[in-house]
Amino acid sequence: MAKINVNLGLCSYDIIIGENVISSLSNRLEKLHLSKYQPVVVTNEVIYKLYGNFLKKQFKSHSQLSFIKVPDSEKAKSWQVLFNVLKTIVSFDKGKNIFLVALGGGVVGDLTGFVAAIYKRGIPYIQLPTTLLAQVDSGIGGKVAVDLSWGKNLIGAFYQPKIVISEIGFLNTLPTREIRNGFSEIIKCGIIDGELFSLLEANRSSILDVSSPKMLKIIKKCAQLKAAIVEKDEFDSKDIRIALNLGHTIGHAMESAFKYAMITHGEGIALGLIAESIISNKIGILSRKNLDRIISLIVDLKCLPIVRKTIKIADIVSYLPYDKKNKFGQSRLVVPSKIGGVKIVTGLDEKIIESSIKDALEYL
Ligand code: ADP
Ligand code: ZN
Repeated sequence: MAKINVNLGLCSYDIIIGENVISSLSNRLEKLHLSKYQPVVVTNEVIYKLYGNFLKKQFKSHSQLSFIKVPDSEKAKSWQVLFNVLKTIVSFDKGKNIFLVALGGGVVGDLTGFVAAIYKRGIPYIQLPTTLLAQVDSGIGGKVAVDLSWGKNLIGAFYQPKIVISEIGFLNTLPTREIRNGFSEIIKCGIIDGELFSLLEANRSSILDVSSPKMLKIIKKCAQLKAAIVEKDEFDSKDIRIALNLGHTIGHAMESAFKYAMITHGEGIALGLIAESIISNKIGILSRKNLDRIISLIVDLKCLPIVRKTIKIADIVSYLPYDKKNKFGQSRLVVPSKIGGVKIVTGLDEKIIESSIKDALEYL
């Protein structure tokens, strides 16, 4: 078991990681003074079928437990679903204080956190992440949001949970593609924290197995890294939290160009990490040796998209958040500077970005 405190003054909270840590849920809720609150679990049908009854047993001191099921996939992060969840919560809220429980992956976590942030100007919520990606990344740090048709995460807030309980046992039912999805974010963390990168490299043949004893260490290291960054820059305003955006600028453009349904977030990030590392090498920051190490780990862990599709470079570039008039002059990109470090670069040449994306696509 590992316990990491995210120190944010009055909004501080613990992240608990391990096998069977969910059995301590009731005690932990008592310590958080949530025993007298009514829990409302937000989840989807897939996760409910797998863990709904199991979870009911974990709420030992709560006689009433309500579930709200939202659609599976990114569709749940819509304005309409947000409204429906709020409507259901109003119907549950009979004068008793409510707290929300996000039981699911990043989608459920983002939506639930946002509902908690806006309902009655904020009610408590806890994160029970069931995907590797949510345990190492999205479940921590309080960035919560839903999408609008114009773009992802367009309405959101910074709103911290009361606790994050990352039950490693939940990962046993996670499809392989979703495990790899999480590993893209883990590799990103490894590029920022070199010790983690070496741990991944040394165990590359066995770490995709979630029952491996290394899993706890890996999730713990990512959570520690994210907690440390969030503590220093909770609201993403000091050029510190931006490090976690590594791979994401080009990664998001890849997701858009491939159309979201075809590739997972992690697959987009894997391509984004390669492209951004190539850029860094081309502009003389990242050494060839370290570039090769990054690419080889991403390829070996099979984090890249599994679909074969011809994508036009111009299409990918069109989704980059750059203003043509500025000739990329105002653009800022986080790139790896070494294994264990990142750098913000500005004023990149459009041709370097395009040729790096082209080079990255060669790995598909
Ligand atoms: P992410 O956490 O990567 O943002 P999602 O929240 O979309 O992704 O979850 C990915 C998929 O995995 C969804 O279809 C979700 O229902 C499913 N899922 C989540 N947790 C589990 C689990 N523990 N076992 C099996 N499937 C799961
Ligand atoms: Zn991400």
